[in-house]
Amino acid sequence: MSLRTTSIATTLAEVFGYGEFRPHQAEIIEHLVDGRDSFVLMPTGGGKSLCFQIPALHRPGVAIVVSPLIALMKDQVDALRANGVAAAVLNSSLCAEESASVLRDLRAGALDLLYVAPERLVLDGFLAELSRLELALFAIDEAHCVSQWGHDFRPEYVKLGILRERFPNVPIVALTATADEQTRADVVHQLGLGDARIFVTGFDRPNIHYSSAYKTKPAVQLLEFLRAHQGASGIVYALSRKRVEEVAAKLRAAGFSAGAYHAGMDAAKRTRVQDDFLGDRLDIVVATVAFGMGIDKPDVRFVVHYDMPKSIEGYYQETGRAGRDGLPAAAFMLWSMQDVMTARGFIDAVAKEEQRRIETHKLSAMIAYAEALSCRRRALLGYFGEERADPCGHCDVCENPPETYDATVDAQKALSAVYRLRERFGMGYVVDVLRGSEGERIISNGHDELSVYNIGAEHSKDDWSAIFRQLIHRGYLRVDVAEYSTLKLTPAAGPVLRGEESVVLARPPAPRPKSAEKPAKLPKSAATVLETDEQVALFEHLREVRREIAAEQSVPAYVVFADAALADMARRAPGTREEFLEVSGVGAAKLERYGETFLAAIAAATA
Ligand code: ADP
Ligand code: ZN
Repeated sequence: MSLRTTSIATTLAEVFGYGEFRPHQAEIIEHLVDGRDSFVLMPTGGGKSLCFQIPALHRPGVAIVVSPLIALMKDQVDALRANGVAAAVLNSSLCAEESASVLRDLRAGALDLLYVAPERLVLDGFLAELSRLELALFAIDEAHCVSQWGHDFRPEYVKLGILRERFPNVPIVALTATADEQTRADVVHQLGLGDARIFVTGFDRPNIHYSSAYKTKPAVQLLEFLRAHQGASGIVYALSRKRVEEVAAKLRAAGFSAGAYHAGMDAAKRTRVQDDFLGDRLDIVVATVAFGMGIDKPDVRFVVHYDMPKSIEGYYQETGRAGRDGLPAAAFMLWSMQDVMTARGFIDAVAKEEQRRIETHKLSAMIAYAEALSCRRRALLGYFGEERADPCGHCDVCENPPETYDATVDAQKALSAVYRLRERFGMGYVVDVLRGSEGERIISNGHDELSVYNIGAEHSKDDWSAIFRQLIHRGYLRVDVAEYSTLKLTPAAGPVLRGEESVVLARPPAPRPKSAEKPAKLPKSAATVLETDEQVALFEHLREVRREIAAEQSVPAYVVFADAALADMARRAPGTREEFLEVSGVGAAKLERYGETFLAAIAAATA
């Protein structure tokens, strides 16, 4: 049991190998070391774990950490042990013998941290056991699971309210990344943390680059994005199991290291995909949203949404899995009108009116994000109530602001075509009529006789689609999903058709010749923070060394070293043990455990 008398900054450096605290970490840690309760709201990747791990080392007794996900507990404990911290797990994944050994260590005071599943913690026998021990603190991770308002309610979490009563002198810290106000208040209430100090850090994830594109050829668009990220770890989310399988197969056919993950697969296969991903033996996981909750991989470099998610909450949580290590990462979303219609279809099937209303609102916010004509980050943060004055300069819209133009004439053409076609056709057909297509259906319907036939040949199909989407989005047209997705005029269309109102739209991007198409300018990997080709080569080599060690020890690659540590190592190319200790992420334990191997690899590579 290491009760430290040194400063928390020394522990940060010696045990975890980091030079500086992230925003708010020091404050939160000091508050807990002083024995007081706190509620911590910090975005994913903000560094919540250290907020209770360091106090656990600075207070007498064992810290009890509650976490909902078994896989996540094990990975955190592996990472702590790699740093020389006495940590253990107690949950249903252990056999009787293993449990007994953990309990022995616990009673002997040999543990600094014990990660426990909530259902185990609240058993009477276990609580009685704990009351005989000295306890450093309780940390309740993913604390939003306590609340019915949250998106992730877990009944066994509710019972944790008992901790405040049973252990009045042990400080409790509840931590979450879930933003919404109602959930926050409920968590504090349920856990009896009325006197807790509340720490809220901003929601921005400045290292994530956000971009979105309308699906024209989704598979091609995806491949183009992935080629700019070759060799990096990433997740591609798709809506259905079938689509997951299809996309994974396409990626493999295109030469990517990709695996599928969804709830329809057997458990063993799912575990293998997840382990290979964590061990860096698999670059890309194509998955339904079932994937990601239980993984804590800090060096996920990109998250792609192949289909549009239903809400910004979900989207932000999923994209938040990218770049937890603070290095450059990318979130890229593809979407289509078809996605919107599918989502509307689901909402229409919801029985309760109130819930339909809420979900419709969430979907509109998602569409507005997809079609954003100004800074995407501002749109995201705004949704969570965080106002931001300046555009971020680090999203596709900021980098390529859309040009707007007086689109009154285009809008009139589009709306009249819908009118002349008696609001009985879908977008594709209306565009064909506008562009003077000689399609069989148009001719046999006699629509080549209409006054609107061939009045829009100056725009391509894609450009007209972009115009129609904006008209739908701005409420001049609506799509009747119940009636074969035909386009209908809304009352707002009248003034435009009569020439009483003008319309300003974003100009569709000018067509680019295929050959001139550059891959998107996006952060490729952690390697982008490196300056020279030699550093990049060394970084890739060190990843190889890490992969081998991780496979040998059956731990996730980041338990050995995170990308951030390898990048710093490649930059410094340390030649001695002292220099090796300077690397961010190298503490005393990792120096002993891995120093020799990595120093040798660096020496060989730079000789
Ligand atoms: P959260 O639980 O808030 O999502 P984690 O606690 O998993 O975040 O931390 C995310 C990553 O940031 C981890 O790889 C962690 O080691 C790293 N990290 C945390 N604090 C610091 C720090 N002060 N300096 C450098 N890296 C840090
Ligand atoms: Zn921006």
